[in-house]
Amino acid sequence: MYDLAIIGGGPAGVAAGVYASRKRIKTIFITKDWNSQSTVSEGIENWIGTVKISGADFAKNMEAHLRAYASDVVDIKTGVLCQKVTKTDQGFEVATDGGTYSAKTVLIATGSHRRKLEVPGGDTYEHKGITYCASCDGPMFTDRDVVVIGGGNAAFESASQLLAYCKSVTLLNRSDEFKADPITVKKVLSNPKVRAIKGAIPTEVKGDKFAKSISYRDKATGEITELPTTGIFVEIGSIPTTEFAKDVVTVDPYGRIVVDPRTQAASTAGVWAAGDCTDGIYHQNNIAAGDAVKALEDIYIYLNAK
Ligand SMILES: Cc1cc2nc3c(=O)[nH]c(=O)nc-3n(C[C@H](O)[C@H](O)[C@H](O)COP(=O)(O)OP(=O)(O)OC[C@H]3O[C@@H](n4cnc5c(N)ncnc54)[C@H](O)[C@@H]3O)c2cc1C
Repeated sequence: MYDLAIIGGGPAGVAAGVYASRKRIKTIFITKDWNSQSTVSEGIENWIGTVKISGADFAKNMEAHLRAYASDVVDIKTGVLCQKVTKTDQGFEVATDGGTYSAKTVLIATGSHRRKLEVPGGDTYEHKGITYCASCDGPMFTDRDVVVIGGGNAAFESASQLLAYCKSVTLLNRSDEFKADPITVKKVLSNPKVRAIKGAIPTEVKGDKFAKSISYRDKATGEITELPTTGIFVEIGSIPTTEFAKDVVTVDPYGRIVVDPRTQAASTAGVWAAGDCTDGIYHQNNIAAGDAVKALEDIYIYLNAK
């Protein structure tokens, strides 16, 4: 039996893994991959101690950091999907598609995944005009008129990236306010190639083999408008990846694991959670890593008290 099971290989999981190794806590480290959410980012500029790093290099550094210190303390399993965490008399069982592991404690660091565009045509045209990654797919829409759905930082970051290739970018925002930082909003909207439509609720994506238009309903008037476009970039938030843990810990109405913010302890003794899968108010790379370090301090004390 392991002392600790860490689930997730983003900044939270990796920070936990590095600390587990330093504290010599016998750990099973389970992750689907090393791709944290910001892996798709062109440049991360707020990872403290690093002026700027691409998302891809950030992910490589995460893996390298953990592997450099894992030694015989942290047993790394990659390409493995956690399917269920169950409480047992001795601790917990972590069921994965690559076998079941037993551990005295569990740290959940599975982050979150993208909310899909749920309108008619949303599934049909995914990867056929509808995309969830501006930095990955943007160049395919060079000189085209594209649409970004959303009004938060991710939407504005996508719009900003798309300006490098696209003829125009139209932002469709459901509410009347943008959630993105005012400085980013001002910068992006000052570009003459950008148009923003507020109070616009997407209703349908139409096309033939590929998407050709998106329709939206004006929240105030109810009027439906069809915008011709071949590129629709969806940035409408994320959903915590916690389905596998819902029977073992309390989650809030959004599916986020409820934690004590002083220690990251979840509702069940022996389980902690860190990063974007929690009900913490702010979610960023530094916060995810810091949360995990805090959890590891608490896990160490818990294990030694047993
Ligand atoms: C486009 C974009 C750009 C961003 N840019 C920045 C930025 O510049 N600066 C910043 O501070 N923050 C940024 N963020 C936010 C930041 O990426 C997140 O706050 C951070 O990634 C959260 O880390 P995490 O470790 O909690 O989760 P995640 O990064 O989501 O990592 C979760 C990990 O768990 C694994 N996993 C998931 N489910 C399972 C499972 N069932 N079994 C096994 N493994 C699983 C995944 O493969 C992944 O490795 C950005 C986010 C996005 C979407």
